[in-house]
Amino acid sequence: MGTKTKDLWVLLETNEDGTAKNVGIELLNPGRRLADKQGGKLVSVVIGCHTDAAVKEAGVHGADQIIVVDGEEFRRYTTDAYTAALAHLLKKHAPTSMLIGATPNGRDLGPRLSCRLGTGLTADCTALDIDEASGNIAWTRPAFGGNLMAVILCPDHRPQLGTVRPGVFKKPDVCEDRAEIIREDFHVPADQIRTTLLETIREASAEIVDLEGADIIVSGGRGVGGAEGFRVIRELADVLGGTVGASRAAVDEGWISHSHQVGQTGKTVGPKLYIACGISGAIQHLAGMSSSDVIVAINKDFDAPIFGIADYGFVGNLFEIVPLLTDEIKKA
Ligand code: FAD
Repeated sequence: MGTKTKDLWVLLETNEDGTAKNVGIELLNPGRRLADKQGGKLVSVVIGCHTDAAVKEAGVHGADQIIVVDGEEFRRYTTDAYTAALAHLLKKHAPTSMLIGATPNGRDLGPRLSCRLGTGLTADCTALDIDEASGNIAWTRPAFGGNLMAVILCPDHRPQLGTVRPGVFKKPDVCEDRAEIIREDFHVPADQIRTTLLETIREASAEIVDLEGADIIVSGGRGVGGAEGFRVIRELADVLGGTVGASRAAVDEGWISHSHQVGQTGKTVGPKLYIACGISGAIQHLAGMSSSDVIVAINKDFDAPIFGIADYGFVGNLFEIVPLLTDEIKKA
């Protein structure tokens, strides 16, 4: 085990072409804040194949140091190769903590890594801070079916590990690239990788809905009353150049597909503008959209909890208000 540092690591997951996945860049944002509070460096760990583009992205988004593991065996994620590489790096450099995106791969990797290192893991976090009393990371995540937000400390183990939902944090601003790059010559022999990806099959019926990348989202809930009710939501989204989202109630009713669902068991989004129509504002819905820049709520119930986090609110029937908004925006 190397000498313990106060450095904070962020895993930068890569695509097969060596480019960076968004969440690894987003996490440099809270990473900067936590590293500064802990008095350590912000380190981006890039694992993949032909990763120059990802390394550059990490540099211009504020990493102090970038540790790179590059090899053909890392082109596609495998539990064995990624666990071996990260366990090696974490033992060698001994940072205080590491943030991993809660992507399908990150959700597989985090628990495996924590077992390998005998440390803890807080999964699926939606907020991060430093506990002033102990200096540990305070990891916040939904608990008890999303009915409360639990703050978890991991006082006795190092490194502190956590997975963080994509879309919760905004990418940091672009800055001058001053990162020190450390290339680690680490390879995993083929016979130690026990899984092989044979084929990727895209689900034929799956609709591609890029909610996480959308700047404007117009969402409908149970208040839209049926699949037909989503027509007014779509029209408003269209004139704004936005994407249609939905609450789980609307998805469970079968009015719209799950790929549109925002919230704890749907997608986490952070658009510039989020318009919630006929959505009450249950905590599980808020978990997926509360970091939006501007929130507008349209609800006929003055006491609906959504108004508690909305920047602007319309109290009234969405079937009157939404078409009026659409018409006014068309005229503008
Ligand atoms: P409701 O709560 O029924 O609210 C409908 C609202 O529409 C009301 O406020 C009403 O006043 C308003 N309304 C009705 N008619 C009109 C009208 N004509 N004009 C204007 N307003 C009108 N929910 C999610 O959204 N996403 C999740 O990912 C999610 N995950 C969950 C995970 C777990 C483990 C659990 C237990 C629950 C989860 N839920 C999730 C469900 C969540 O608890 C709520 O049940 C759900 O968000 C409610 O959806 P809603 O606001 O559309 O419906």
